[in-house]
Amino acid sequence: GTLPEVERVHALIETAHERYRGLDDGKVADYIPSLGEADPALFGISVCGVGGQTTSVGDSTHPFSIQSISKVFVFALVCHELGHSEVSRRVGVNNTGLPFNSVMALELSDGDPRNPLVNAGAITTTSLAPGSTAAEKWDFVQRGLSRFAGRRLELDEKVYASESATNQRNMAIARLLQSYGRMHVDPIQATDVYTRQCSLLVTAEDLAVMAATLANGGVNPITREKVIDASVCRDTLAVMATSGLYEFSGDWLFEVGIPAKSGVSGGIVTVAPGKGGLGTFSPRLDPAGNSVRGQRAARFLSHSLGLDIFAST
Ligand code: GLN
Repeated sequence: GTLPEVERVHALIETAHERYRGLDDGKVADYIPSLGEADPALFGISVCGVGGQTTSVGDSTHPFSIQSISKVFVFALVCHELGHSEVSRRVGVNNTGLPFNSVMALELSDGDPRNPLVNAGAITTTSLAPGSTAAEKWDFVQRGLSRFAGRRLELDEKVYASESATNQRNMAIARLLQSYGRMHVDPIQATDVYTRQCSLLVTAEDLAVMAATLANGGVNPITREKVIDASVCRDTLAVMATSGLYEFSGDWLFEVGIPAKSGVSGGIVTVAPGKGGLGTFSPRLDPAGNSVRGQRAARFLSHSLGLDIFAST
């Protein structure tokens, strides 16, 4: 099946927005200082169908840094270049059960980055992007993510500067990967490209289009550009299903039943394969770093739109 007609989808996202906008559980991330300035009241929801129909409610055009959601799209682009076996060998596809920036996860696995959606695996994935210099890798990442969004995505210079000044832990993770023989470029430069990718500005509407591209076998439903192969989409969705919401990935799949990825600025991309994509934005986070209202909205919409991939009816 496909999504219901756009009027019906709009009525449901209005209902979700109405229901959850008063929820003020959770806290805005502040370990990256400039993220702490986000207005906790912001809440946007956007849906894009595989046929290109879009509908939005609330703060759906408010820009915010993409953060960890970038990991999904960089993984997809690198997977498209290197192939299924190579990325599973070099990055891994298993959940860590530990926080996204865990050093212990890396130590426990003798330097195996585990999966592309935790920082160790994401920095590894970024390091594998085509190009012999950091500038070429960054260009590949920025262009690639922009193709998913269907418009040129720009850096939030303030967030980039703020995270660059405080990302000692990520630099340590990259150094540790290097010590295990897992990093074949300069680790500090790899971390810098990763920090840049996390600082790209998007809106909930962009996230819906990016998610819909993954729902649509890699073809952006708005621009009709083929960004990645359908088989790579499938691989990416499998990784999102196991590890998209960090240590709450199991809870998510159990409650919502479709692949997703969160980021600490408050975005979530949720993908209904073959149907469409959902982008949500609300800055208050649960203890793992996942948007509280975004999770509630996605759960409500998955049920009301019949998106759960495990449901027989
Ligand atoms: N840039 C952030 C970091 O590396 C992204 C984390 C996230 O969104 N979970 O810490």
